[in-house]
Amino acid sequence: MSKRVVILGGGVIGLSCAFSCRLRGHRVTVLEKGRCGGQASGAAAGMLAPFSENTEGADDFFRLCLASLRLFPQWAEQIGRVSGQDFEYSQTGSLYAAFHDADVLAMESRLGWQRNYAGGARIVEGEMLRLVEPAISGKAVAALHNPEESHIYAPHYVKSLEQACRNAGVEIYENLEQADIEQWRQDVAVRSKNGSTFAGERLVICSGAWAQELERIFGLNIPVYPIRGQICAYSIPAGTVRHMVFGSQGYVVSKANGTLVCGASEDVSGFDDSVTDNGISRLRRWNKQLFPFLEERQPFHKWAGLRPATQDGYPLLGALRGFGHVVFAAGHYRNGILLSPVTGSIAADLIDGRLPAVPLDSFSPERFTN
Ligand SMILES: Cc1cc2nc3c(=O)[nH]c(=O)nc-3n(C[C@H](O)[C@H](O)[C@H](O)COP(=O)(O)OP(=O)(O)OC[C@H]3O[C@@H](n4cnc5c(N)ncnc54)[C@H](O)[C@@H]3O)c2cc1C
Repeated sequence: MSKRVVILGGGVIGLSCAFSCRLRGHRVTVLEKGRCGGQASGAAAGMLAPFSENTEGADDFFRLCLASLRLFPQWAEQIGRVSGQDFEYSQTGSLYAAFHDADVLAMESRLGWQRNYAGGARIVEGEMLRLVEPAISGKAVAALHNPEESHIYAPHYVKSLEQACRNAGVEIYENLEQADIEQWRQDVAVRSKNGSTFAGERLVICSGAWAQELERIFGLNIPVYPIRGQICAYSIPAGTVRHMVFGSQGYVVSKANGTLVCGASEDVSGFDDSVTDNGISRLRRWNKQLFPFLEERQPFHKWAGLRPATQDGYPLLGALRGFGHVVFAAGHYRNGILLSPVTGSIAADLIDGRLPAVPLDSFSPERFTN
């Protein structure tokens, strides 16, 4: 039966939940205090990289990330079709570079477990490495190649998602300045600063790095806090960098529009999302290690965003015990773009009272509350 669903937050997570719920026939309202995608989501590098982001082993978080990567082809087709827009979904594969023989040993053990999940993963060395990625530093001794990892252009992705939501009939209210939950125990009511009230039967919390503000309302510990990511882009000739390339300190992603996006710092700076000289200088040093040709170049664009981090690095994903009509989808930290399709699908399942295909025990929004 169709429900009125109120979604707090219009980043990639709120919009993905909105789109998925709308496709299931629900009447959906998104409430955004600023602009949709105006925070972390529009700042992201857009990598869909569960293997490169999870180097230690196959835990529940890795499985969630992988499930989402595999939803992406169909999801991207759907968003593209409904929005009529393109966001450069590029299946370039990735290389994780090693500069020391000792790192290659660690890489071999990573390949050992990742091979169970990734068809075609392999280590490329020496001449072969330079053949597949000609401009990479001569000091790189090997790289773990994962052909399945991909990327999108994040600012266009969020715009397409927003347009897909609008075209599908989601109501979106932006620039609300503030939206406060007034009622949630039975029916839902959210009041904006200008005095409008938005009512519903279901509530999905997608307020990113601001989720901790809701601790008092729900009587929960919600240890979500902002981690600033500073990032920059160079203009380079098309085809110079072929894969997403990771090093121990950063990554570079070549976009179809001829830019090379290089990220990203991890700073504790509260809600300050400014770019600092220090932050960008550090990035430039890492970038040159990976691709020496960058020595000669200056980034033409620098920006920053606030990743929603949690105490244990896992998102808050699930319905509240005893209040199944309230769903949390926040704290996606470094992987909110990657996790957007699976999060949308999980939120829609929970709204429908269905058991999601992915186990959620590790992601309970109440796990920090005694
Ligand atoms: C530099 C950088 C690089 C990144 N690279 C990648 C990457 O390559 N791949 C990847 O998967 N992820 C990446 N990420 C992480 C990714 O961007 C985040 O995980 C994701 O954007 C989180 O989405 P979100 O919707 O939860 O948060 P946000 O995009 O921050 O959206 C939350 C929204 O909620 C709104 N809001 C908050 N409180 C309220 C309220 N009370 N009422 C109404 N609205 C409210 C905010 O205004 C905001 O727009 C990167 C992040 C950064 C900063």
